[in-house]
Amino acid sequence: MKNPFETEERRAFRETVARFVEAEIKPFADQWDEDGEIPWELHEKVGALGAFGFGIDEAYGGLGFDDCFMRAAYWEEMGRCGAGGVPAAMGGRNISVAPIHDLGNEDLKMRVLPNVIAGRTGSSLAITEPGGGSDVANLKTQARQDGNHWVLNGSKTFITGGMKSDHIVVAARTGGEGLTGVSLFLVDHDSPGFSRTPLDRKMGWWCSDQATLYFDDCRVPATNMLGEQDRGFIAVMNNFNLERIGLVAQCLGMMKLCLAESIAWAQQRETFGKPMIRHQVIRHKIADMSARIDALEALVNQICWAVNESANGDDMPVAEISKAKFHATKALEFCASEAMQIMGGAGYLRGNAVERTYREVKVMAIGGGSEEIMRDLAVRQMGL
Ligand SMILES: Cc1cc2nc3c(=O)[nH]c(=O)nc-3n(C[C@H](O)[C@H](O)[C@H](O)COP(=O)(O)OP(=O)(O)OC[C@H]3O[C@@H](n4cnc5c(N)ncnc54)[C@H](O)[C@@H]3O)c2cc1C
Repeated sequence: MKNPFETEERRAFRETVARFVEAEIKPFADQWDEDGEIPWELHEKVGALGAFGFGIDEAYGGLGFDDCFMRAAYWEEMGRCGAGGVPAAMGGRNISVAPIHDLGNEDLKMRVLPNVIAGRTGSSLAITEPGGGSDVANLKTQARQDGNHWVLNGSKTFITGGMKSDHIVVAARTGGEGLTGVSLFLVDHDSPGFSRTPLDRKMGWWCSDQATLYFDDCRVPATNMLGEQDRGFIAVMNNFNLERIGLVAQCLGMMKLCLAESIAWAQQRETFGKPMIRHQVIRHKIADMSARIDALEALVNQICWAVNESANGDDMPVAEISKAKFHATKALEFCASEAMQIMGGAGYLRGNAVERTYREVKVMAIGGGSEEIMRDLAVRQMGL
C-alpha cells in the first residue's frame, strides 16, 4: 500500500540502511551472536550512515535535523537483520546522545559527541539499578556535591553497551525522595571510583554487552551535570519516548522478518503431498501475521507524524507511544511464535533468524519500559 508519508529522502535513507543490513550484517549475524560481540568497525560504519546523529547539531557531528520516519526506518531495517543483539550492541548511543546534546555544556559536547556520533567511541544510558528499573522515581544511586565535583555512590545494571562505553549518562539522586530529587551526570569510563562487570548468559541479545556499573565514591567534575539539578526525571521520561519508538519500529522489522521466513519455508516444504503454503491453516497464520504488520506499520507512521509535529510545538504523543510499545511487543510475540510453528523442528534449531527472534521477544517486552508499565502510563495519560 502506498505510504502517504514517503518522501524521496526517506525512501533513499531506508534503502541505504536496508542494503547495508543485507550486505554487512545479515551474512554475519549468527556468527557474531555466537561469538558474543560485533566487530568495532561496524559501529563506525553505522555511524557513517548517520544513525546516531538524528537531532544532533552538525557542529557535533550530527545530521543537523531530526525526522522520526527516518529514525523508525533505521530501527525497522535493523529489526530485519536477524539478530537483535547487533543494533543493541551499538544502541547505547541512540538512547544517550540526546541528553548529552540537549543538556550538556558546550565543552562537554565538543569533547564527547563527535566521536560518539561517528561510532569511534561508545555511550550508554544508565537508569536501571539492581533494586529495580520500572520505578525510576525511586532510584537509589546517590550523588553529593564536594567542591567542584560530584561524588556518586551506588550501582546500575543491565546497561546496554556498558562494558565498552567511554561515556555513560547516569541518573542519580541529588535531592529528596521521589521524582524531584533526580539529576543526570555524564560519567567517563576512566573516572576515579568507576568500575564495571559484564552480565553474562542472557536469553538473547548475545552479541550485545550489558553491564553492571559500580560507583564507589566516583568523582565527576561539576560541569558533567547534564541539565539542572533535581530536574533529571523529566529528562529521562522525555528521552524514553524516542527509545520506545525505536523499539516499536524494531519490532515491526522483526515481525516482517518472521513473515518472510515463514513464507519462504512454507513455499518449499511439503507436507501431506503439497507445499505447506497450500494448507489453509498455514495460509491463515500468514494472513494473521500480515494483518498485525499492517496495523503496526500504520501506527508507527501515525506516531512518527505526530512526533515530527511535536517539534513544531504540538504535544509529544506519549499515550500513543506507550500503547504502541506493548501493542508491538504482543504482535511480535505472536509473529515469532507462529513463524517458529510453521518451521516446525527446523525452527527450533540454533542458528536461524526465527529462533533468534523468538529468544528476543522478551527483551523487547521488558526493556525500555515493560508491557505493564506501558499500560499503566497509557491509562495515566487518559487522566485515570
Ligand atoms: C537486555 C536488556 C538491556 C537493557 N538495557 C538497559 C539500558 O541500557 N539502560 C537501562 O537503564 N536499563 C536497561 N535495561 C533495564 C530495563 O529497562 C529494565 O529491565 C526494565 O525497566 C524493568 O525493570 P526491572 O527489570 O528492574 O523489573 P522490575 O522493575 O523489578 O519489575 C519486575 C516486573 O514487574 C512488573 N512490574 C513492576 N511494577 C509493576 C506494577 N506497579 N504493576 C504491575 N507490574 C509491575 C514489571 O513490568 C516487570 O515485568 C535493560 C534490560 C534488559 C533485559
